Amino acid sequence: MAVGVIVVAGGRGSRLGGPVPKQLLDLGGRSILQRSVAAFDRHPDIAHVVVVLPDELVASGVALVGRTTRPVAIVAGGARRQDSVARGFDAVPPECDVVLVHDAARPFVGADVIDRVIEATRASGVAVPAVPSRDTVKRVDAGRTVGETLPRDRIWLAQTPQGFRRDRLAEAVVRGRRDAEATDEAMLAEQAGRRVVVVQGDDRNVKITTEDDLRAARAAFTPPALRVGTGYDLHTLVDGRPLVLAGVELAADRGPLGHSDGDVVCHALIDAMLGAAGAGDIGRHFPNTDPAWKDAPGLDLLARAVAIIAERGWQVSSLDVTVVLERPKLSPHADAVRDRLAGALSLEPDAVNIKGKTNEGVDAVGRGDAIAAHAVAVLVRGGRG
Ligand code: MG
Repeated sequence: MAVGVIVVAGGRGSRLGGPVPKQLLDLGGRSILQRSVAAFDRHPDIAHVVVVLPDELVASGVALVGRTTRPVAIVAGGARRQDSVARGFDAVPPECDVVLVHDAARPFVGADVIDRVIEATRASGVAVPAVPSRDTVKRVDAGRTVGETLPRDRIWLAQTPQGFRRDRLAEAVVRGRRDAEATDEAMLAEQAGRRVVVVQGDDRNVKITTEDDLRAARAAFTPPALRVGTGYDLHTLVDGRPLVLAGVELAADRGPLGHSDGDVVCHALIDAMLGAAGAGDIGRHFPNTDPAWKDAPGLDLLARAVAIIAERGWQVSSLDVTVVLERPKLSPHADAVRDRLAGALSLEPDAVNIKGKTNEGVDAVGRGDAIAAHAVAVLVRGGRG
């Protein structure tokens, strides 16, 4: 019992805009059409593949379909979907006693759905995969008023491939060649009074129709984006100023001199975040000539930096900060600094690391006249972008 499949890619138009038919749009290095064909080409039960293309694409059809292991016949489609299926059916070899009809705009069809459709078709003659509607479905009448709320537990959304015993599809094709209008082939079988069995579809077996569908489909092939930035900050230490790191005040004789509170941990981290997001640096966003930032708490600036990178579509995933300070020792405060940063950035504590170093008595930092911090921030896609 051989199984053939008709992959219907006869559409010219593209509701997605642009001159390229949607089935030829790229999805992670292969076209939507190629991915749909490949789903059947690698299925062990499929013997023959027929691809229906618009007339003008038939000449380049072999190249458009790409390399396959099974024979692929390429035929020209017709005006309506059902005309395209009829022409495809003419090219299915007679030894195929089960014929599947698949919409090329569903490139994510899995082997399990194909299996279920083939099995049910062999048992019952016609089978369609479908998923239960999660939404309440309204029949909408003229004037955009609700005519009826359909009982949701009986609403299923049909997918493809739809499966037909050869004689059943032949019958549907005859009906389709006449005046019957159908949005899928199962409908023609229904109109002929045939029993159409529903098998479980797959929520991932989406039909790419809108820009949003395309964007979501492409995201499935896009590796998670990652950005890394580094930051550095140094402040002179003077008598009589508080020493604040990520909002945590350390008992100390001296504190940083600066326009703001001189929180080197926040300042270095902000530069790392802005750098990773390609958003410049702290001086550009919080100039020390602007009185708004006079004595501004580092954590407040950090919160603003979070918003700046979020607008560019990024959020902090992890960070590592080294504080270079001669005295007091950082280690008793490191956990408090870490927890404060984790809270400010909505991170788990283990995504935040704080290390303390001394400068071994060398230069201004080593003499206790300055404090410095180095930060590395890792950003991932997120935020509001
Ligand atoms: Mg600073």
